[in-house]
Amino acid sequence: MLHLNEKRILARSIHRSSQRLGSYGYLMVYDRLLLNIHNVKLRKTLRNMLRRWDKSTFKSLVLRMLIHVSISENDHAILMRICRDDFEYMDPRQYKHIYDDIDELYDTYSATYNIKSKVLKFIIPAVELEGVDFGRFEIVVPILMKSGISDYYIICNALEPNFPEGSYDISECHPHVSGSTICLGDYEDIVIKLYECGYMLEFAKIIEGVLNTYNEGNPYLYITAWLHGMCRECGEILDSDEYCRECGYGDDDF
Ligand SMILES: [Zn+2]
Repeated sequence: MLHLNEKRILARSIHRSSQRLGSYGYLMVYDRLLLNIHNVKLRKTLRNMLRRWDKSTFKSLVLRMLIHVSISENDHAILMRICRDDFEYMDPRQYKHIYDDIDELYDTYSATYNIKSKVLKFIIPAVELEGVDFGRFEIVVPILMKSGISDYYIICNALEPNFPEGSYDISECHPHVSGSTICLGDYEDIVIKLYECGYMLEFAKIIEGVLNTYNEGNPYLYITAWLHGMCRECGEILDSDEYCRECGYGDDDF
């Protein structure tokens, strides 16, 4: 049962973190763009404005300058780019939405939040791929980081680890999980962006999706290892239940 105070603290932590990390993306892009402005006075004014970060005020200032200040073609193009805002950054999630999301995070993913260590844990329900049960996974992620995260910070623990039959290795417990490391593949960028902008429910959903999808392109271990087991003699993945084609183990003539 979720404690109301705990919920409030978690929502505030996610919100504060997302305000800092989510805005950071815009800041970096704008700052880099502004460096290319030739007009010194214009550049100084805008960069000062950027420090007191407020996206909408900043953009309306840019728009005003675009109309009223006579500027070179180069500077005009840069201001135009900022106005169009075609950057692939999402806005940080609003507090109210974060607060609402947390209920689902607790209900669907049995989330717990450690106020002292600022660590959020949630459980991905039973995972199954091609008829193989991989059990539940516990995801552990810190909130309120000073800088962004990489998938290195996302800890993924198998709660009912299923190791392929015959394997001596106790790290591969899922085709895309090795030890406590999850390979997010093509989803890494979006997962990190969701985290940075405070979309923790979507963050959990995508991780659940990754765990429930088998991608033949880049697994730590092919799913056939679970379907047919691994050779006790040479460690090769078996491609049938009969014998190892690699070393012949299990064959009558072995
Ligand atoms: Zn073998």
